[in-house]
Amino acid sequence: MTSVRSTPTAAATATVRPSITCVVPAFNEAEGITGFINGLCAHLAALTEHYDVIVVDDGSRDGTGFEVIGASGGLPVRLLSLSRNFGKEAAISAGLDASTGEVVVIIDADFQQPFHVIDEFIRQWQQGYDMVYGLRTSRSTDPPVRRFLSRAFYRLLSRCSSVEIPPDAGDFRLMDRRVVDALKGLPERSRFMKGLYNWVGFRSTAVPFVYGDRKQGTTKFNFSRLFDLAMTGLTSFSAFPLRLWVGVGATISACSMLYAFFIIARTLLRGADVPGWATLAVAVSFLGGIQLLSISILGEYVARIFTEVKGRPNYVVAERHGFNDPKRPS
Ligand code: UDP
Ligand code: MG
Repeated sequence: MTSVRSTPTAAATATVRPSITCVVPAFNEAEGITGFINGLCAHLAALTEHYDVIVVDDGSRDGTGFEVIGASGGLPVRLLSLSRNFGKEAAISAGLDASTGEVVVIIDADFQQPFHVIDEFIRQWQQGYDMVYGLRTSRSTDPPVRRFLSRAFYRLLSRCSSVEIPPDAGDFRLMDRRVVDALKGLPERSRFMKGLYNWVGFRSTAVPFVYGDRKQGTTKFNFSRLFDLAMTGLTSFSAFPLRLWVGVGATISACSMLYAFFIIARTLLRGADVPGWATLAVAVSFLGGIQLLSISILGEYVARIFTEVKGRPNYVVAERHGFNDPKRPS
């Protein structure tokens, strides 16, 4: 690994052709994975003589792993089969842990991220950037509800978190080995990769691209998975939901005090009266709701702590193919 890169401010100097590892998380992608691997390898071969592709089969039940083995003949393609479906974040972590290239590119297995964008990633890396991420120019391929919720989530996250997470950036990105090593060093189990990429820092730049339609199969992210990911993102990168209740609690206490003064003053002036049951019922149920909500938010954080304390690995590898042959990038 001998590349010397210029800084982003300097003009491009030597055209360094880095060794590239492509990490491809795949869950039930048997239908199109052969075509995808062939297309990706042909594209990478034109970019550099040293590349490899690591497909992480994330517990697929449709024979994705067999397809990958079938497609890998003569190509520097490796397969990591996880023992069950651990989720995309864990699959990416598994791929990064096994990667050896000087740069690592993460790409989905469904053709939604065009291969030619990788050329621009490499050009930006050659200019001195350590992380180059794809930025979707439009979310028109997402259903309107997902688009709306996604926007709302990133707006909330940017308000609550000190780490800047670009809303239209995904996992499609190039990372220098230094960034990959920094990510590998993060011990947390609740992994929200989009946050972690930004947390590690380094010189980053965006490359806008048009997100394509899925060529085969359907999205693996239903509402409950997206909600789960959003909760992980929010609780991993912000303590704001916890702190919010200090403000809410203080406001409600202040209102209660004022109301207490009002009742005392009225009792002194007009004597005691029985009415007020409705006010009492409303106040009790309102406070009950607030308490349940705040306790459930506490519960979310306790659940994350519980996950971290158990210290279980992020994923378990059941099988590896192609990791012992000499086709590794040098
Ligand atoms: N994926 C994965 N594990 C999962 C869900 C998805 O490895 O549990 C992979 C999937 O096979 C694809 C990538 O992650 O290669 C992105 O998934 P998808 O296309 O369903 O997401 P979307 O494009 O709708 O955000
Ligand atoms: Mg997709």
